[in-house]
Amino acid sequence: MLQEEKELLVRLIDYLLDLERKEPVVQPQSPESLSHLLSLDLEEEGLQIDELEQVVKELIKHTPKTSSRRFFNQLFGGREASASIGDILSVMLNTSMYTYKVAGPMVLVEQLLCREIADRIGYGDHAQGTMAPGGSMSNLMAMIMARDKADPTAKEEGVQRPLVGYTSEASHYSVLKNAALCGIGRSAIRKVQTDDQGRMLISDLQDQLQTDIKAGKVPFFINATAGTTVLGAFDDIVTIIEVAKVYRDIWVHVDGAYCGSVIWSRQHRVLLQGVDGSDSFSVNPHKMLGTPLSTSFLVVQDRSRLYASFSEDAGYLYQTADDDLNPGKISLQCGRRNDALKFWMLYKSKGHRGLEQMVDHQMTLAQQCRDYLRHHPDYTLFPCEQSVAVCFNYKDIPAEYLCNQLYEEGEMMVGYGAFRGESFVRLVIVNSQNSWDVLLDFFTSIEQFAVHKLIISDI
Ligand SMILES: *Cc1c(COP(=O)(O)O)cnc(C)c1O
Repeated sequence: MLQEEKELLVRLIDYLLDLERKEPVVQPQSPESLSHLLSLDLEEEGLQIDELEQVVKELIKHTPKTSSRRFFNQLFGGREASASIGDILSVMLNTSMYTYKVAGPMVLVEQLLCREIADRIGYGDHAQGTMAPGGSMSNLMAMIMARDKADPTAKEEGVQRPLVGYTSEASHYSVLKNAALCGIGRSAIRKVQTDDQGRMLISDLQDQLQTDIKAGKVPFFINATAGTTVLGAFDDIVTIIEVAKVYRDIWVHVDGAYCGSVIWSRQHRVLLQGVDGSDSFSVNPHKMLGTPLSTSFLVVQDRSRLYASFSEDAGYLYQTADDDLNPGKISLQCGRRNDALKFWMLYKSKGHRGLEQMVDHQMTLAQQCRDYLRHHPDYTLFPCEQSVAVCFNYKDIPAEYLCNQLYEEGEMMVGYGAFRGESFVRLVIVNSQNSWDVLLDFFTSIEQFAVHKLIISDI
């Protein structure tokens, strides 16, 4: 890399950081006007470095700013500098995380992080983990292992037994999608009802299990969610595992993609009580822990299940070291991006205590938001206690309309959700650099916006 290329990188980063401060929300434009405005077309001749800089700056300018203080739209946000530096380094090192020969100590970094998570959730010595490209893929790996355990010839012959799985109606859509991907079929996944807090209703789980067993089906998988995507609710893992044991030994996966990071908090990890008895657990530090996308872990209580489902022989790839040091042996992928380094750098710079503070800070901020809304007569608050999701309506303004207008006017990016037929604004507190000031500003902006900008006759 030439000196002038290094300088280009620094200038582009400075440009982005400056824009984030000055224009935290990009003015939305149609794809047609953007393709017209930006020089996206591929050309015969390459650009000079200064021309390239101008073109890329335009592109950056019009890209939504997910790390700004006005972004609350998805389950990630903010930026932890040490983690971002780690990710840039991963690109520069460009190792592939399948073998020790190619990735060297990076394999140890990934394994150490998996071990830390396994220890935190109380899995024993036989546990092992891996990183997957996102929570959906971590969940897919869990379902494949459950399938292969319940139907051992599935890997060779395709699914032979009438497998059925269970997940709450508030769970993430990847559970259904994964059932399609691994040959079980979406219709073999039972949607279990939820209680008024959005947690899996155990009585309905039991009813559906009994019905299926009577009908000759084979229950193979229960997905419990630690932080549902809309309300941020935590399923009762202890009871779900009890039920799984009574009705045969069903694989219990805990999907902690969103809020599994509470394992770093002494105060809040009780929300995951019982997770030590589960078969697998996933967590995305790219959600509550400010690490760049994607950072997702899957840990498994019995490591032999990982090898049983994912190990293939390949003489051209696995030429040194034993299986333990070749993470490609327990992966969906062949070439694997280094997602471990960024989280390790964050961890090193913060320590256990720093990660705990990030989690606690977000939980406290969410509580402060709920207190504010409760004391303000114009807001209606939806059930989301002990969660980093704050779900509310302002006056009688439909949530969808409010969120769309806020976006159109370049005011802020926040999304809406629904529970039991009612829609609401879903404010997600997953940016640990936010302070109460930023959130108070969020609410007062909504209040002022409603008075000055919304045309009530449009509603
Ligand atoms: C975000 C989320 C996922 C999916 O994670 P990706 O990394 O986006 O694939 C799965 N489960 C839950 C509960 C989530 O909130």
